[in-house]
Amino acid sequence: MEKIIDESQQGSTLSLENNEKNGRKLYIESYGCQMNFSDSEIVASILAKEGFNTTQDLNDADLVLVNTCSIREKAEQTVRKRLEKFNAVKRTKPNMKVGVLGCMAERLKSKFLEEEKIVDMVVGPDAYKDLPNLIQEIDEGRNAVNVILSKDETYGDVAPVRLNTNGVSAFVSITRGCDNMCTFCVVPFTRGRERSRDPQSILEEVNDLWDRGFKEITLLGQNVDSYLWYGGGLKKDFDKATDMQKATSVNFAGLLELVAEAKPKMRIRFSTSNPQDMTLDVIEAMAKYRNICKYIHLPVQSGSNRILKAMNRLHTREEYFELIDNIKKLIPDCAISQDMITGFPTETEEDHQDTLSLMEYVKYDFGFMFAYSERPGTLAERKMEDDIPEETKKRRLTEIIDLQQKHSFYRTQQHVGKTEEILIEGTSKKSDAHWMGRNSQNTVAVFPKEHYKVGDFVNVKINECTSATLIGEAVGYSENN
Ligand code: SAM
Repeated sequence: MEKIIDESQQGSTLSLENNEKNGRKLYIESYGCQMNFSDSEIVASILAKEGFNTTQDLNDADLVLVNTCSIREKAEQTVRKRLEKFNAVKRTKPNMKVGVLGCMAERLKSKFLEEEKIVDMVVGPDAYKDLPNLIQEIDEGRNAVNVILSKDETYGDVAPVRLNTNGVSAFVSITRGCDNMCTFCVVPFTRGRERSRDPQSILEEVNDLWDRGFKEITLLGQNVDSYLWYGGGLKKDFDKATDMQKATSVNFAGLLELVAEAKPKMRIRFSTSNPQDMTLDVIEAMAKYRNICKYIHLPVQSGSNRILKAMNRLHTREEYFELIDNIKKLIPDCAISQDMITGFPTETEEDHQDTLSLMEYVKYDFGFMFAYSERPGTLAERKMEDDIPEETKKRRLTEIIDLQQKHSFYRTQQHVGKTEEILIEGTSKKSDAHWMGRNSQNTVAVFPKEHYKVGDFVNVKINECTSATLIGEAVGYSENN
């Protein structure tokens, strides 16, 4: 779960245990960020009550749903290609219905129905509770669209289901939408304004997961540090809250403490953090609780002050360094990862060098790097020309990927010789005789299976490493077990 866009997960079909009473078959495929995969679990839960069992066989489906991503043009092209495939199946199964969910649905709205004749239903990320009505519409032969964005929908009351789970780690969504308005980003337009979920319902979900044997949760949001519960409502309306609401409000550091104390043996992760919203109290909470993992995904996007300003990232390079210094001071072994964009409009060679020098300063443990992709409707698209040639974007991207590779290797080497607690997630992809798990810093470790099992916390002596994987041997259960 270390990646925001996990390529190995893209297009995963998800399935639930079947309920014998259900007579129709749902095939659901997901693309994009972890939030989308988490949303697909909400959708499957809503449709399980409507008589749908999930299937992993497209040819078997009565209803095909694709949960889409708009973050880059390539993500949208992938979905269009999948729709061609669905079309081919529909030719042999004319009664099969196709629905598009998520960010692309929100961005294109009913235009989707005109552009892709195969699509019967278009549903935005805040309208999943309306799916039963929308499905009735399409059953009766009409197209159906609901792309209304909500002020307060958090799906906090939808009993979570877990699709294709390893039974060890699960996502728990805590905020929806984003108010940051980064000029390159389509998210505020596709996922709406920022709102937070009731901490009580978050705690209930975490308790339920623990009771069902889960050992690790990732608190999810586009910008988790901005979490603010004051009885419901949009983050931007907090100013209008009553004194009582303000006094009893819960911020992200408060939520972390609540969850960490409620389940002291549950590992807690979170994603994504935004530097402009990350406060010292979050870092202090991480340092205080052993069960909050020592890993922060802290996208910066560029190392150049001029580009950061043009991106409307509301911090400077110097403020980012200060944040990094504070993290390292309070949590010396904390892993940090980045998202970076190359070739944002007007980016010069000097700006690019600033990005490389910022990376040298931080020496990130992991990184997720992208060439700028102009997105319709964003401020950058409206106000700036996409003026960096594709080959320049790609060359700069290769340079930052190469540097990240070097830093990742440097960081994994720091674990060699140490004994670290690993939570076992499953069998190693490369060897049936080895377990795969992660340390607190989110680095993957593999080691011989012996008598240990999935879900165990094991102390592993790290003997060697590659740039992405620690290789070791178990020396016993950890005290967390
Ligand atoms: N909310 C997080 C933030 O802004 O820090 C993550 C948002 S997004 C789902 C994940 C990553 O995609 C971003 O951090 C950014 O690096 C990348 N991204 C977003 N818009 C992009 C664009 N127009 N072109 C290329 N990459 C983009």
